[in-house]
Amino acid sequence: MRDFLLVINAGSSSLKFQVFDVCDDRLDMRLRGQIEGIGTRAHFKALEAAGAVLADEPLPAGQDQRAALDHLGNWLRQAAADGHLIAVGHRVVHGGAHYSAPTRVNAQLLRELESLVPLAPLHQPFNLTPMRTLLEAQPELPQVACFDTAFHRTQPLLAELFALPRQFYDEGVRRYGFHGLSYEYIARELPRRAPELAHKRVVVAHLGNGASLCALDHGCSVATTMGFTALDGLPMGTRCGGLDPGVVIYLARERGMGIDAIEALLYQRSGLLGLSGESNDMRALLASTSPGARLAVDYFVYRIAREIGSLAAAMGGIDALVFTAGIGENSPHIRAQVATRLRWLGLELDAAANDSGAACISRPGSRLAAWTIATNEELMIALHTRELLNLSPAQ
Ligand code: ADP
Repeated sequence: MRDFLLVINAGSSSLKFQVFDVCDDRLDMRLRGQIEGIGTRAHFKALEAAGAVLADEPLPAGQDQRAALDHLGNWLRQAAADGHLIAVGHRVVHGGAHYSAPTRVNAQLLRELESLVPLAPLHQPFNLTPMRTLLEAQPELPQVACFDTAFHRTQPLLAELFALPRQFYDEGVRRYGFHGLSYEYIARELPRRAPELAHKRVVVAHLGNGASLCALDHGCSVATTMGFTALDGLPMGTRCGGLDPGVVIYLARERGMGIDAIEALLYQRSGLLGLSGESNDMRALLASTSPGARLAVDYFVYRIAREIGSLAAAMGGIDALVFTAGIGENSPHIRAQVATRLRWLGLELDAAANDSGAACISRPGSRLAAWTIATNEELMIALHTRELLNLSPAQ
């Protein structure tokens, strides 16, 4: 029987998963899939590593996260019947100030992570439910929590501070940063793909539905655009990104908006969706001819370029830019627009390489190198899980 690892990335309405075979010196992705529309019209889809569809079916309407997990468990028992599940790795958005490395899941850890829910109310509760459910159902099954904040714990104090009275920092009100598993994967890949850049100053642009930038110096995070929550920094699909906190005070005092209404506005109705009035989806905006869509895309690109300048200043220079995640990996148009705004930093884009999806997209001799590297947060979680539990395949 083969040993396999399950990786779970659970969000508010979706549950993504990957199954890895644990081989001698590597992890082979075997299955992947997701349940989308949890709570409304849930739909289950699973694919083989090579892309063949194994399941593509609606689930009964209104299923909650636990029911979705049950469905996945039952399906996996059949689909991976020739294997033995030896561990589960989970993506957890917030590890707070304390958790700077992957950690074995137990009741105490869950209690501590529960206390961080107010810092990530729209993500953390959904990350915790699968861990709790599995711990209750199969206490002997090892589980590992991998934190999106952990990779940024190398940031210097100056990068973590807000200019509030110091007691707030001590209480945990600081810039944590997110998308850490994605940045860690890119930092791990750079020495293989572009060894000349691994020890240089690199800005990684994780541009997906959630979007942020990270400044890597010698492969370590030294600054990032997201802060105390995953709301700060770049505009995103539905999140506003950086906002004058005075706007929040105005909305509450002058517009009489309650805190829940403000939260919904900033997290769910702003960003690309708010500006365009059309869609949070970059593909839809690029296909649209409306002025709103155009404005939203222009603002996205403008903020990315501005924030790259800020991170370059934080590092005292910049040697390379790496694009990743849904938009960063798949949109030559957005990459080209950002590159145009970064000509002043010495970026000379190789248009043909950019259009063809090549890895290195800058011209030879460009003072600022540019790359596109696909991220793989799930593999990072699987690697951490294997390492922490010291797992090797059954003999
Ligand atoms: P998440 O943060 O949900 O993991 P992804 O990394 O999957 O998000 O990115 C989703 C975004 O990527 C969406 O805005 C989608 O429109 C965009 N995207 C995917 N493919 C393309 C493409 N070919 N061109 C432009 N945008 C794309």
